[in-house]
Amino acid sequence: MSTSPYRILLFYKFVKIDDHEALAAEHLKYCKNLGIKGRILIAPEGINGTLSGDFEQTEQYMKDLLEDPRFADTVFKIDEAEEHAFKKMFVRPKDELVTFRFEEEWDASEFTGTHLSPKEFYEQLQQEDVIVLDGRNDYEYDIGHFRGAIRPNVESSREFPEWIRENMSEFKDKKILTYCTGGVRCEKLTGFLMKEGFNDVAQLEGGIVTYSKDPEVQGRLFDGKCYVFDERISIPINHTDEDVIIGKCYHCAAPTDDYINCPTCNLQHVVCESCKEEHEHFCSDACREQVAVPASN
Ligand SMILES: [Zn+2]
Ligand SMILES: [Zn+2]
Repeated sequence: MSTSPYRILLFYKFVKIDDHEALAAEHLKYCKNLGIKGRILIAPEGINGTLSGDFEQTEQYMKDLLEDPRFADTVFKIDEAEEHAFKKMFVRPKDELVTFRFEEEWDASEFTGTHLSPKEFYEQLQQEDVIVLDGRNDYEYDIGHFRGAIRPNVESSREFPEWIRENMSEFKDKKILTYCTGGVRCEKLTGFLMKEGFNDVAQLEGGIVTYSKDPEVQGRLFDGKCYVFDERISIPINHTDEDVIIGKCYHCAAPTDDYINCPTCNLQHVVCESCKEEHEHFCSDACREQVAVPASN
């Protein structure tokens, strides 16, 4: 039995949804009623969500979702927590779960790269002549990633197609391994790579969070922390003595992987303990001074 009072769920399922806007509205009511908090996206191509609640609430959510035939084989990644990981509940209708804006129809449940278990991924990471591509954004890469992975210079998934065309074409005949937080982004990314003519594309099944929980690999070869889109901001992955810090303080470049938000401009930046105090959480003097000025009418 769980000892923590709360749990955080992470899940996705690619499946055709007919009226995704109606489902989103209905699902939001259901979630609020249940008392869970989090962020769920519903698109014509499926559902993707992360949410927190107490044991009973999360148990009920999983049971109800799995009873819907469309979502019957959804896999949930479960983390224990001391409190809610979100402030509110959002259920948003979207055009795509992961925005690639590809010109043609694309069924990500059918057209996607090979799935590798954590153990298979770990083994293939160590093969020679393998290209490892991080399927996340640059700021996620910067506090933690698989050793030797390529850092994509993108701030959102919609920038991937252009970035790949400009930076990856020399690797079309190589074996490509991709990974992301929970797996959903790689389902689209690997399909995109295949459409672009990459011949051998594989992805980490269940993403970094699943890899982290595998009792055999224990997060090996992952350096730093994994960025997550909830109040925790980052979580540890590598449970062996290889664990290292790879983030650098925005102000002084000291090693740290603590992300904070600037109270003025909202810039999310990595800051060490002493700079956090010295700069009072602000990213710059300009942002600090702005707060000192009383708002004028
Ligand atoms: Zn610092
Ligand atoms: Zn700022």
